[in-house]
Amino acid sequence: MFLSDKRALITGSTSGIGLAVARALHAEGAEVVLSGFGEADAIAALCEELGAVHVPADLSRRAGVETLMAGAGPIDILVNNAGMQHVAPVEEFPVDKWDMIIALNLTAAFDASRLAIPHMKAAGWGRIINTASAHALTASPFKSAYVAAKHGLSGLTKTLALELATHNITANCICPGYVWTPLVEGQIPDTMAARGMTREQVINDVMLVRQPTRKFVQPSDIGEMAVFLCRDAAANITGTNISMDGGWTAE
Ligand code: NAD
Repeated sequence: MFLSDKRALITGSTSGIGLAVARALHAEGAEVVLSGFGEADAIAALCEELGAVHVPADLSRRAGVETLMAGAGPIDILVNNAGMQHVAPVEEFPVDKWDMIIALNLTAAFDASRLAIPHMKAAGWGRIINTASAHALTASPFKSAYVAAKHGLSGLTKTLALELATHNITANCICPGYVWTPLVEGQIPDTMAARGMTREQVINDVMLVRQPTRKFVQPSDIGEMAVFLCRDAAANITGTNISMDGGWTAE
């Protein structure tokens, strides 16, 4: 329980990877603040399970991030994880989707970080963990906004690492390949349409074909990596992109 004196905010933690990270940090004793959308009953059950508070806010708007950070209180571990995807060719890409993806997947991480850092500096310890993606390091067709946002998030993270290096605050990206979550399930119909494929073809020939292990990454694996990044042994890991992608970006 090495995190029992730490307070962690995980954005997008009502589902998928963020929820797994929240569970892993909670298991090490961290006080957890949840964020994200969902059914009120389901969120109440998660708060009960994790002894957590949930601060509702739409993080695709700057005012929403400010509401979240004000409601969350002082944060020692910030996990910028909330994200969304849209799959379409560039010339057909809905401009409102572009704006939303850049706002949620990139700008929200900037705003949450700038608002969390003063407490971390005062406390003399902090961890910023950003859920990036293999798409922070490489591209795929039809994902222009997502790839741009995740590459940007990697750049933001490197800059944070340099600025915070002497404050005992690290900033890193975890870069998963395909993780079986509602986000991935939700992009299957659009990918079927964009590529003229069946559901099975999308799973096997678009998704898992990128991962030499031919397996989806598990959300709990990401949780374990987040825990490791909080350890003293990880104090010199900063400004990195940690790939958890079954070998995708090794090719
Ligand atoms: P998910 O759809 O299961 O969860 C997304 C979370 O973000 C939910 O809690 C949702 O409520 C929240 N959210 C969505 N829009 C929001 C908004 N406007 N304001 C506040 N919260 C909002 O997705 P996931 O697969 O767990 O993805 C989490 C992160 O991991 C994302 O940044 C995603 O890009 C990244 N990622 C996912 C995969 C994958 O294969 N699933 C791979 C690489 C990276």
